[in-house]
Amino acid sequence: MPTILGIPLDVNSSYLRGPARAPARIREAFRCDASNGWSESAVDVTSADALVDAGDLNLVNSKEKVGEDFAEIEHAVGTLLNKDKGQPILLGGDHSITYPILKAFAPQYPALTIVHFDAHSDLYNEFEGSRMSHACPFARIMENRLVRRLVQIGIRTLNRHQQEQAEKFEVEIVQMRDLPAYNRLQVRGPVYISFDMDVLDPAFVPGISHREPGGMTVREAIAHLHAIEGTIVGADIVEYNPAQDIAGMTGTVAAKILKEILGKMIARS
Ligand code: MN
Ligand code: MN
Repeated sequence: MPTILGIPLDVNSSYLRGPARAPARIREAFRCDASNGWSESAVDVTSADALVDAGDLNLVNSKEKVGEDFAEIEHAVGTLLNKDKGQPILLGGDHSITYPILKAFAPQYPALTIVHFDAHSDLYNEFEGSRMSHACPFARIMENRLVRRLVQIGIRTLNRHQQEQAEKFEVEIVQMRDLPAYNRLQVRGPVYISFDMDVLDPAFVPGISHREPGGMTVREAIAHLHAIEGTIVGADIVEYNPAQDIAGMTGTVAAKILKEILGKMIARS
């Protein structure tokens, strides 16, 4: 059964803090009476027998203790995976959390594919002196061979270094300018979805730390989520920054994305 776990960590953000406050805001929007609890795939994802809410991890969220927090994240996600084939959905947090999360997934799913929605490829070998920055998680994941395939979609900020990293790690990149690209998401086997809110155009999601114009509409993101084949075994939704938000707009979108991912997970489980 899908289990929601909040990961309030934003110490690895390079520009603005704030995503540590996202899990509570996403839950609030998810349960808000302004909308019913059904996904577009016709699943009541908010019903009590559809999912478990495991609350938030208790993290230090300081630069000096990043190693301890990462160990805690890996342990907690591993525990969820060991329990009744749990399907963890992690609410970040900045994107650095995906590395310890995938360290927990790798032993259980040796043939895992990540479908990664993002404006950024997050493939820096290091960023501003940190290898744990939210600009680096997919370099760590690929150099440690934690997944079989990494498919990135919505990318629109590639520089030379990240192009070289993508070639080195054989990352499959679908750039924003090449959308729609539904056929690129026909993956086989277990799939992990990593959804960075900034893949969306900042017009739809002002509550993000890195507003990169020219992004997906909410509809384009949902259509590409729906197009993913394979079995969704886990997901994260990261980089929502409530401090940047306007009237909770971005929280509402994050909750919608959560509903659609849950709808896919429950339909296939
Ligand atoms: Mn990212
Ligand atoms: Mn991003």
